[in-house]
Amino acid sequence: MTASTRIAFFGLGHMGGPMAVNLHRAGFAVRGFDPNEAACAAARASGVPLAASAEEAVADALVVISMLPASHHVERLYLGHDGTPGLLAALPAGTLVLDCSTIAPASAQRVARAAAVRGLEALDAPVSGGVAGAQAGTLTFIVGGDAAVLERARPVLQAMGKHIFHMGPSGAGQVAKLCNNMALGVIMAVTAEALALGAAHGLDPKALSQMMAVSTGRSWATEVCNPWPGVMDNAPAARGYQGGFATDLMLKDLGLAVEAALSVGAATPLGELARNLYALNSAAGRGKLDFSSVQQLLAHSRP
Ligand code: NAD
Repeated sequence: MTASTRIAFFGLGHMGGPMAVNLHRAGFAVRGFDPNEAACAAARASGVPLAASAEEAVADALVVISMLPASHHVERLYLGHDGTPGLLAALPAGTLVLDCSTIAPASAQRVARAAAVRGLEALDAPVSGGVAGAQAGTLTFIVGGDAAVLERARPVLQAMGKHIFHMGPSGAGQVAKLCNNMALGVIMAVTAEALALGAAHGLDPKALSQMMAVSTGRSWATEVCNPWPGVMDNAPAARGYQGGFATDLMLKDLGLAVEAALSVGAATPLGELARNLYALNSAAGRGKLDFSSVQQLLAHSRP
């Protein structure tokens, strides 16, 4: 894999757009594709060459990367649907397929199995770090698949991220990503609950947060993304919960975590409770707001 390797990039949204820009800036011959014109316009403005069709995007590509919303988008792209063949059927043997979307582990395994049948190499490589990490090129890649294939992919991933973890065979990257996000969802919700409890007793949420941030209740929620407005200038709570990681995306990930738990008979009582909390937060009209807006669901008086 050299810096001039041709890469087809599918999905130029909040995450995929800046990831494709970083690959382009690192010198890779990127060709992006997204059916959404607004997503294309942003990538084009940053100099990323675009393809008019999926077929044009993959022509001569040694690597195909996807950053799509959900499992069915990824399965449709690679495996096809309603009799239309998927992309895997069009790729020459040896092509490296990297799916960075957060999807069901079982979907990642289906894509990897179909890729192997065609002599293609596939990794699930979901990310952590959010839009800021995608823009800064500091994402964490959480990888499932063959270790030797990861070594081949490493220069490509390094152009978009800072940390790379190999978690095991196909699907293991997705399982690990869901474990991380389940913990994050629960921790954010319980931090919001603790701040609401303190405020109901007349405590200053800022003072409570500052104490917790250096005590045993500390976490990413108290150190980086405090859910209570006015505690942190740079947190989504300071701008009406705009930007950040949407409630609906957290809801999707918790749904996938619950499905993954069901598939092996694991008990995830807090994950299931958190999924319900974010479902209520979404139903209250905060689906597009940062997931720390769960604070508004849990506050005794609106923060
Ligand atoms: P997004 O909705 O902003 O972008 C997804 C893009 O995929 C859209 O522009 C859409 O038009 C495009 N798309 C759909 N089908 C396509 C196809 N067949 N070919 C090409 N493009 C197609 O979503 P996002 O926020 O960029 O998230 C993408 C993935 O990353 C999701 O799985 C999400 O869970 C995960 N993720 C997001 C964040 C975050 O903070 N946003 C953080 C970590 C992981």
